[in-house]
Amino acid sequence: MRFEPTDEQRAVREEARGLVREELEPEAARLDGEGAYPGEFLAELGDRGLAGLLLPEEYGGRGGGLVELALVTEELSAGLMSAAAAFGLHVGVAAVVERFGKDDLKRDVLPGMARMGTVGALGLSEDEAGSDKSTLATTARREGDEWVLDGHKRWVTNFEEADVVLTYARTGPADGSGNATAFLLPAGDLELDRRWDTLGARSVSTCRVTLEGVRVPDDRRVGSVDGALAERGRVRTGVNVPARAVGLARAALEDAAAYAEEREQFGRAIGEFQGIRWRVADMTERVEAARLLTLRAADLADRARDDAGRGDADPGRALRLAKVNATEAAVENANEALQTLGGVGYTRDRAVERYLRDARLLTIAGGPNEVHRDAVADAAFERGR
Ligand SMILES: Cc1cc2nc3c(=O)[nH]c(=O)nc-3n(C[C@H](O)[C@H](O)[C@H](O)COP(=O)(O)OP(=O)(O)OC[C@H]3O[C@@H](n4cnc5c(N)ncnc54)[C@H](O)[C@@H]3O)c2cc1C
Repeated sequence: MRFEPTDEQRAVREEARGLVREELEPEAARLDGEGAYPGEFLAELGDRGLAGLLLPEEYGGRGGGLVELALVTEELSAGLMSAAAAFGLHVGVAAVVERFGKDDLKRDVLPGMARMGTVGALGLSEDEAGSDKSTLATTARREGDEWVLDGHKRWVTNFEEADVVLTYARTGPADGSGNATAFLLPAGDLELDRRWDTLGARSVSTCRVTLEGVRVPDDRRVGSVDGALAERGRVRTGVNVPARAVGLARAALEDAAAYAEEREQFGRAIGEFQGIRWRVADMTERVEAARLLTLRAADLADRARDDAGRGDADPGRALRLAKVNATEAAVENANEALQTLGGVGYTRDRAVERYLRDARLLTIAGGPNEVHRDAVADAAFERGR
């Protein structure tokens, strides 16, 4: 049993932490307030090859695994969740292309993606295909060596900055069997319908887009015909969602503890009151539990790769547990931090109100927690039989 990151994993975490402290944190409030994209910071991640964290060295990547992704994502999210969201989705798209794309496509796009010169976004969810992705309305029909795509995507994070969108379309009958195929489309082929005005994640665009007769050559297909959803499930870069939550839960704890030490009421620091001390202890426990579950899920997934794993060693189950635990820890900690800061916590002078707005996304995105709980319960009942 291992509970500690390796020296290399520690080093990449420290690298990300240093960058966040120097270049992201000082800008975070402004970026969130203006709804401005953290382009310079993400470009720096690209220059350092961190955007190619999961890609092999032959494409300019770092050859890391999901543990490294979780460690780096925690750091980015503690600085600004929007930056971690743009990063997580980009890295996830690159990983799917690397795993299932054809060699020519990989040689064409992955070196750019490793440098973040080519930015990736994900087009999966639709108006009627939210939690249930087996009901995609976007279709792709084959015409010779090309496919023709029609439909829409409801939520594409980072669409306005993206160069390529990994787009999922139905390629079989609408019988709920999830017969989807993935294509890497130039972002210019998708038309912007609207930019959503969101509660949090305000420094990254989230857009509804439409596709009308978009023609794409078969060599930009990523993975098998009809099998893209199952293939996507095997990549497990979704660990970036609980990792983002750990970052927010930790930032909330740090801000609350620092404030409680310095703020005095009734003749002493509020951190001396038992009500606050126990709150800080509970917040600490949530961070540690969420981080352990997240890193364990990442580690299991790295070791299992295509093997589904079984029982407690099933990375899919571990990921669901981490997702539910960490995202709820983030909401709880952000809320508790806000209470600890009192009135000033309710203002935009402090970051805790942003943590709460940003955390609120994470129990929904990456699949609502109810759906993950259902799947965990299914496995528990299965084992009990
Ligand atoms: C800001 C933002 C960014 C996003 N970015 C992307 C992106 O880049 N790419 C992409 O493809 N998607 C993206 N999404 C979509 C996201 O993954 C979906 O919102 C999510 O999967 C849930 O779908 P839905 O919103 O349609 O909710 P619905 O499926 O309509 O569910 C609504 C609610 O019903 C409940 N519910 C649903 N199913 C069950 C169940 N089985 N049991 C109990 N309760 C249930 C839950 O409480 C859920 O919150 C983004 C969403 C947001 C808000």
